[in-house]
Amino acid sequence: MRRWPALVLAAAIPLTAACAPASMGTPDQASSGPRIVAAFYPLQYAAEQVGGSSVSVTNLTQSGVEPHDLELSAQQVGEIANADLVLYVKGFQPAVDEAIAQQAPDRAIDVSAAISRLTLDGAADPHVWLDPSNMSTIGTAIAERLAEISPDDAASYAKNSAALTGTMSALSSDYSAALTNCRTRTMVVSHDAFAYLAKAFGLTQVGISGLSPEAEPSPARIREVADVVAKENVNTIYYETLVDPKVAQTIADETGASAQKLDPLEGLQPGATGDYATVMRENLATLAKGQGCS
Ligand SMILES: [Zn+2]
Repeated sequence: MRRWPALVLAAAIPLTAACAPASMGTPDQASSGPRIVAAFYPLQYAAEQVGGSSVSVTNLTQSGVEPHDLELSAQQVGEIANADLVLYVKGFQPAVDEAIAQQAPDRAIDVSAAISRLTLDGAADPHVWLDPSNMSTIGTAIAERLAEISPDDAASYAKNSAALTGTMSALSSDYSAALTNCRTRTMVVSHDAFAYLAKAFGLTQVGISGLSPEAEPSPARIREVADVVAKENVNTIYYETLVDPKVAQTIADETGASAQKLDPLEGLQPGATGDYATVMRENLATLAKGQGCS
């Protein structure tokens, strides 16, 4: 089923992740419709919601893996080469950007293209999926492209996309309502994943370690954040699902705040039973409590 010479492939990509489990990359073979490759979980969710049973969706980022520094196996590059549609956020995962440029430049959608990108320290912020209204935009873009790939199913994609928009609108309304009256509008988080969410609901994000969760904050940065915690009446520091909570816990301990898990939805945890919408609702409950909203 491979359509490219093995030598070209071997030369084109690093093979450091070649031992990744084979099962994660196996699409649902029951479907003969469009094959979609999603770069990470929220895009998989949007593709499944819009494509329904007529598509097969593969996620390049294994559950439990933090996607920022994803490396691709040869098999995964093959999946990109064979896909009818690849969904990604440009600038988020360099290995994915590179594989798309080489294997599927005309079959990929940068889902952030239709979204006004926020910048942080001069870099485009990739975390668009944490504002539910952006997920609607992403769903619409997927439906339009799928309609070109499989015109017979266009009505079904449009209907599914409208349903996703409805779900996301309800989620946004609930966020707005629950986050109206709060003790503090400053949210202190492990890394800067929540700017789109904060902007949508009138909060101010203070990230401890910048746009990438792996960056180690300086002692000066930790001191700054601790000062913000005191000044802005913050009593909850949010740490993440897929990243070591050590630094968040340190600041919480130092300031007397509590540390609570807030999920940036960069991936699901292994064995997770929920989906994007359920995790976002859990996040809302955590935020409403942590921000002291009534
Ligand atoms: Zn991130």
